[in-house]
Amino acid sequence: MSDKIALERRYGATNYAPLPIVLSRGEGPWLWDDEGRKYLDMLSAYSAVSFGYGHPKILKAFTDQAARLAVTSRAFHSDTLPPFLAKLCEVTGMDRALPMTTGAEGVETAIKCARKWAYVSKKVPRDTAEIIVCDGNFHGRTSTIVGFSSEPQYRDDFGPYATQGFKHVPFGDATALAAAITPNTAAFLVEPVQGEAGIVVPPEGYLKECERICRERNVLLIVDEVQTGLGRTGKVLAIHHEGVKPDGLILGKALGGGLMPVSAFLAREDVMGVFKPGDHGSTFGGNALGAAVGLASLNVLLDENLAERSATLGDYLLKKLKAVQSPVVTDVRGKGLLIGVELDPRKVSARRFVETLLKHGVLSKDTHGTVARFAPPLIVERADLDWAVDRIRDALREYGPVYEKAA
Ligand SMILES: *Cc1c(COP(=O)(O)O)cnc(C)c1O
Repeated sequence: MSDKIALERRYGATNYAPLPIVLSRGEGPWLWDDEGRKYLDMLSAYSAVSFGYGHPKILKAFTDQAARLAVTSRAFHSDTLPPFLAKLCEVTGMDRALPMTTGAEGVETAIKCARKWAYVSKKVPRDTAEIIVCDGNFHGRTSTIVGFSSEPQYRDDFGPYATQGFKHVPFGDATALAAAITPNTAAFLVEPVQGEAGIVVPPEGYLKECERICRERNVLLIVDEVQTGLGRTGKVLAIHHEGVKPDGLILGKALGGGLMPVSAFLAREDVMGVFKPGDHGSTFGGNALGAAVGLASLNVLLDENLAERSATLGDYLLKKLKAVQSPVVTDVRGKGLLIGVELDPRKVSARRFVETLLKHGVLSKDTHGTVARFAPPLIVERADLDWAVDRIRDALREYGPVYEKAA
């Protein structure tokens, strides 16, 4: 075992089980380990590195700003936060933005905002507001958020939880949402594509129908685009596939340009308007450095047409993966460059399969026991994807014969 891994095992907490690789350098979509071996990154740090490693424009914004002014707290104004907020609203079509650092903090902000909106605006009796969430959701790891996770490992030993504030409905079922709404419902919180649940794409028209129901029943539609946002699914936001306009939106991961945590909760005017000075905050949220990096990331996304690129290359990769016939693959699905390959757990676990892929030079991660995900940085080249599919075929061959379906 590498001595680096041994050192981490000796001193680190065991809340992760990393693949046995020690990374030491990254460039574009490529990573190198500490022995100089090269890998194609098909995980992108769960979309945090959507613009690749060391993107020159984002890196320049980072180093210039870090040298000039980094952290001021929100006790003062900085000269980089206002243009970042304006750009965020312009890109997303939302009225106002509240900057945070991690995705989970963005979700917490959304929960607080939705509850206060329910009490102030909808006149829901104090402490009775409900938020509807989906089975299989992933919104982060704070104690409130894991309280409404349907994944037993994420929640079981971390209670007690507020038992009344959240209600579950099946993902992809708008009728169930309509049936679950009560006069006390503040919001429906949903991922456009469930990432951690195994790249679960809902039926077409689902979000549009949810939007209609929420509007009709005066319930906030809050979309968690921490993973799907900023080009990942082939549009700037995944909700753009159906022209949905939510009341609240959460961004994170890619917003930090692969360099630092930057997240935001965005909302329409009257919803964000419930926050008064002192209601909410975060020491690092909206810091001058994060704002400069966030703005540079949004500019890169737009200037380089990365959403379109994700749509084109995503279609290409999906077709190529679907053409690979292997007895261990049971399904290939996704949107843009967010693709999941479902494996037959009787033949190979997803964990074992991603370890095999690692050996062949492709970095991926298992999710939900049976799914390997393929979500490379959006700046990846078509030829890199061809190379990756060859490697994926090699890896699959270790578990049975592999054929190519005729086009
Ligand atoms: C990753 C993720 C989060 C949490 O983000 P962190 O930065 O890890 O706190 C929230 N929602 C979704 C959909 C995510 O994929």
